[in-house]
Amino acid sequence: MRILCIAAHPDDAEIGMGGTIARHVDRGDDVYILTCTLGGVHGDPQARMKEAQAGTRILGVSNDRLKFLDYPISKLNNPSAGLSQVLKEHIDDCNPDRIYVHSPEDYHQVHVTIGATVLRLAKLDDGLREVLCYEVISSTSRDFKPNAFVDITNYMDLKVRSILAHKSQSTRLYTQPNVIRALGNIRYAREKVGTDPEGMAEGFEIAKYVV
Ligand SMILES: [Zn+2]
Repeated sequence: MRILCIAAHPDDAEIGMGGTIARHVDRGDDVYILTCTLGGVHGDPQARMKEAQAGTRILGVSNDRLKFLDYPISKLNNPSAGLSQVLKEHIDDCNPDRIYVHSPEDYHQVHVTIGATVLRLAKLDDGLREVLCYEVISSTSRDFKPNAFVDITNYMDLKVRSILAHKSQSTRLYTQPNVIRALGNIRYAREKVGTDPEGMAEGFEIAKYVV
């Protein structure tokens, strides 16, 4: 199975679905990650790129499968034909069976722009069968209602390590291991993913799905 995860910022893939990425890799799926920006206007783009490479390597994704668009953040406040075109070209090149992307139910405008753009342009066909939205604890809104869950109990340690690789983000509330584990534990328990007291899960919203 060929997987494409599309993220706005260098740490979004790890925070949103690091455990699921590691699980896909473990079962032999081909995982590709597209990161649209190299962080905010005040960050160091080269440092953010290196952190993203280190983080996704921990999850088993090699650097040649991690691509950066380095799209100007100032042009991501609203959907545009230019962004649509660039994303469409990348999706066509990758030809994934499943896409993961930000939910439009998010407080961060750049996440909303990218999520909405991908949901609009990703057409299900013989190749692409599924589009799912992942949950970013820093900004996914209360209206995000996950209806698909992945048991990441065996992958939470990797997820936490991959997030800690983003050293420039280490003081953020949402990168703290206890916060990441707490959400995983709640998703697992409340959705009855299993009965393991240490159980962890990631939640997704199914946006498009064809069997
Ligand atoms: Zn982000």
